Amino acid sequence: MSRVAYVNGRYVPHAKAAVHIDDRGYQFADGVYEVIALIKGKFLDEVGHLDRLERSLRELRIAAPMGRRALSHVLRETVRRNGIASGIVYVQITRGVARRDHPFPADTAPSIVVTARRIKGPSPKAVEEGIGVITQKDIRWERRDIKSISLLPNVLAKQEARENNAYEAWLIGEGGVVNEGSSTNAWIVTKDNILVTHPADHSVLNGITRLGVLAAAKKIGVRIEERSFSVEEAHAAKEAFLTSTTSHLLSVVTIDGKPVGNGHPGEVTIKLRQAYFAHFGLKDGSFL
Ligand code: PMP
Repeated sequence: MSRVAYVNGRYVPHAKAAVHIDDRGYQFADGVYEVIALIKGKFLDEVGHLDRLERSLRELRIAAPMGRRALSHVLRETVRRNGIASGIVYVQITRGVARRDHPFPADTAPSIVVTARRIKGPSPKAVEEGIGVITQKDIRWERRDIKSISLLPNVLAKQEARENNAYEAWLIGEGGVVNEGSSTNAWIVTKDNILVTHPADHSVLNGITRLGVLAAAKKIGVRIEERSFSVEEAHAAKEAFLTSTTSHLLSVVTIDGKPVGNGHPGEVTIKLRQAYFAHFGLKDGSFL
């Protein structure tokens, strides 16, 4: 089945899908996005993602191109036309097409693009053995709670991770605090079995997976502290892991090459992973 994209009201062949060169997404990264996981025909927390999308749009004063029900229909229709049971759907909304000038244009309709594709997800090896992260200075702007398409610092950090054979880069803020990863939220489990992750303030994206894992942790009685933690505390932690829509929940077994805990996925992390999928009525989160 050939790929189809939704672009401003029309379903078009993916290879021919395009937006205008004066789109403010292209010119200024003036837009927002969402990535929603589809597992065996079911979106994982569509409501959470659409809530966050609407919030991002509101924060940037970009008009919603359509109502929630219409968007929900477009997401499903894009998935259907691509014949996908498991994978991801991507939504991008920008302030629209206008002559290049910094201030918001008057009377410009927002642009919307929706695509869907299969993904493999993390390898069984990454799930079973865990992954490594490196640390990098967080050089992003101060509104990381908005899911903006302006991702250059994230791109540079992820590339640095890849060049150092690491899965992810943890971004370090003021005072040596671990904010989050370049495309994931960061977590530790302390020696006292307390689950710790950065609070959902302006310095991090409030991950939908993060919210799902917090809900799952509550269900199984894991103690939670939403507070920042330092790189030193992460090194001394019993367990560490990361979360995102496409990685789900992966054990972090090394930070800058040094092992976390015993260097193997920890039992709280493994329990949380299972509880997270159970929370969505799934046995596991395989995209395959
Ligand atoms: N932080 C950043 C910077 C991200 O880009 C992402 C992925 N979009 C996340 C965290 C994880 O968010 P989610 O669980 O909603 O995918």
